[in-house]
Amino acid sequence: MPDQEPLAPHGPLPVGGSVRPMTRWGTPVMHAPQQPVTSYDDGLRALAADMVATMYAADGVGLAACQIGEDVAMFVFDCPGEDGVRVVGVVCNPVLTLPEGSDRNLDDSDEGCLSFPGAFIECPRPDFARVDGFGLDGEPVTFEGTGLLARCLQHETDHTLGTVFGDRLPTKARKKLQKAHDRAADEFPPDWPVADAE
Ligand code: ZN
Repeated sequence: MPDQEPLAPHGPLPVGGSVRPMTRWGTPVMHAPQQPVTSYDDGLRALAADMVATMYAADGVGLAACQIGEDVAMFVFDCPGEDGVRVVGVVCNPVLTLPEGSDRNLDDSDEGCLSFPGAFIECPRPDFARVDGFGLDGEPVTFEGTGLLARCLQHETDHTLGTVFGDRLPTKARKKLQKAHDRAADEFPPDWPVADAE
């Protein structure tokens, strides 16, 4: 049975991009807030297309521009919510809104990052998230989600702010994550996922 078509409430993801090497934690561009998008032009669309191609080549559910080395506050995603239905989108200049008070419930599922590949560990986050931002033509967009999608929207918005999920972990968990990543190093050469895509 073919894959079910994803929901694309603000239009499909851009296609035709090139797979680029994944930028890793420790690279300065990943650890400072990204520059806001001010010009919604062909260059931005081409960058988003490269991000989509790279995300799929790496079997990821989301990717921020800094993960291919670009200092731009933008992410793309193709991620299922709690109901298993995939949602796709592009968000520039994302602003996250999370539940507060009695509506705030933490989900402590495992989390991983394409920029620290081969390692997953529990990372508590609210089980619902909403992101407001702009699409590739500068139009306002809003996405909200539960389950993995809630986690993805938070994780990718964090990237645009220069935060990686390791920053959110206690020291012990961070060390465990580092060990898993080190053990898997051979599977992820420096130009990964470019070779995998050829
Ligand atoms: Zn990440």
